[in-house]
Amino acid sequence: MSATTKPQTKATSFDAEALRADFPALQQDIYDDTPLVYLDNAATSQTPTAVIDRLEHFHSRENSNVHRGVHRLSQDATDEYESARESIATFIDAPNPEQVIFTRGTTEGLNLISSTFGELVVDEGDEILLTEMEHHSNIVPWQMLAEQVGAEIRVLPVSDRGELEMDRLGEFLTDDTALVAVTHVSNTLGTINPVGDLIDSAHAQDVPVVLDGAQSAPHMPVDVQALDADFFVFSGHKMFGPTGIGILYGKREHLEAMPPYHGGGDMIDEVSFEKSTYDGLPHKFEAGTPHIAGVVGLGTAAEYMMDLNWDAVQAHEDDVLAYATEQVQAIDGLRIVGTAPEKTSVLSFVFEDIHPYDAGTFLDRLGIAVRTGHHCTQPLVERYGLPGTIRASFAAYNTREDADRLVEGLRCVKQMLGDS
Ligand code: PLP
Repeated sequence: MSATTKPQTKATSFDAEALRADFPALQQDIYDDTPLVYLDNAATSQTPTAVIDRLEHFHSRENSNVHRGVHRLSQDATDEYESARESIATFIDAPNPEQVIFTRGTTEGLNLISSTFGELVVDEGDEILLTEMEHHSNIVPWQMLAEQVGAEIRVLPVSDRGELEMDRLGEFLTDDTALVAVTHVSNTLGTINPVGDLIDSAHAQDVPVVLDGAQSAPHMPVDVQALDADFFVFSGHKMFGPTGIGILYGKREHLEAMPPYHGGGDMIDEVSFEKSTYDGLPHKFEAGTPHIAGVVGLGTAAEYMMDLNWDAVQAHEDDVLAYATEQVQAIDGLRIVGTAPEKTSVLSFVFEDIHPYDAGTFLDRLGIAVRTGHHCTQPLVERYGLPGTIRASFAAYNTREDADRLVEGLRCVKQMLGDS
C-alpha cells in the first residue's frame, strides 16, 4: 500500500452492532449483571480484537529491539515498526512516512513542538495565539515557552454556544503573533472548529499553525496535506489503539530545522565526547527504545479504521449524537453545554441542582461510564461559570440503545438526587 494513497474503503456500509462485537471490553457486565455502557471515548476508546491479537502476536513472536539488531527478531520488529509508520502516514495522508514521528501521545507531541520549533520561532515580545477551548496540554507547554522567552499568550474567545469567535480573529491574530495552536475538535464541547479558515488567516501572515487532533483523528478522515497544518498531533488510545503511543506529523521543512527533543541512542549519526551529530527524519526525534508494541498496535488500529466506510460511520455517529441530544435535553433541569451546529461525538451537560461528580458516580452504579469534571479544560468550564460538566462521549460502536440507557440513567439521577 503506498504511503500517499488512502486505500479504498473495504466496507460499503456500516453496522455498529457488528463493530461492537469486535470489542471484548464492551461485552462485559459490571456491578451484578449490569451490561456496561461505555460513553467515555473522548478520554480513551476501547480496543478491538484485531489490535489485542496484534499486541499478543508481537509479544509472543516478534518482541525485540528496533534499528539495532542483526538477528531475525530485531529485523522483524524493525520491519513491523516501520510498516506501522507507513500505515499511519496513509491514515493521515502524510506526504512521506518520515514526517510521522512516534510520541507518547498528544501531550508529548505538543511539548516536543513547543520545546523545539517553539524556541525557533517565538521570541521575546511575540504572541502565541491559543483558544479558550484548549485542553491543558495545548495551554501549559506554550505558557512554559512564553515564560522562558518572554512572549505573551493571547486567547481567542468562545461564544455561549461553544464556537470560536472567528469574527474577532483580527483582534487576536496580530503582527506580533508568532504561532497559533488550536484544537481541531473540542474534547469538552464537541465543537468542530473551522480550522481551514484559521490556517488560511494565519498563513496569510506567515504564522505557523499547530493542530491538536486528539479528538478529530478518531472521528473523521484526516488529510494533513489538505488541512495544510504545520503540525498535527494525536493519541493512539482515543482511536482504538494502545495507550502510551501517539503521533506527531510535521511539515518537512520545520522538522528538518528543529533541533532534537531528547538525546540518546537511535537518534544520532555519530557520537564523540567532543561532539555528536544527529540522524535524519524521523529518527532524530525518537531517542531511546520506543514503545515498539504500541507502535505496531497503533498501526493495526489505523488499518482497522481505514477498513471502515467513513461516510457511513460519520452518518451513524451524527445520528447517535443527535438522538442522544434530543432525549437528554428533554430532561427537566438539565442544560447542554456546547450547542454549536458543527459538532461531533461529545455531549456535555449539567443539572441545575446536582453536582456533576454525584451524577457521574450514580450513573456508574447503573453501569454507565461517563466523565465528569473540567475535562482538562479548566479555563473553558470557568468561562461558563461551571464547576465541571457531565460528558458522554461516543465512538462508532455506540448506538441509540446506549443513548437510551444514558437517558434512563439520567432520569434516575434526577429522581434520586434532584431537589424536587
Ligand atoms: N488534546 C485534547 C483535545 C484531548 O482531548 C486530550 C485528551 O483528552 C489531549 C489533548 C491529551 O491527550 P493525551 O492525554 O493522550 O496526551
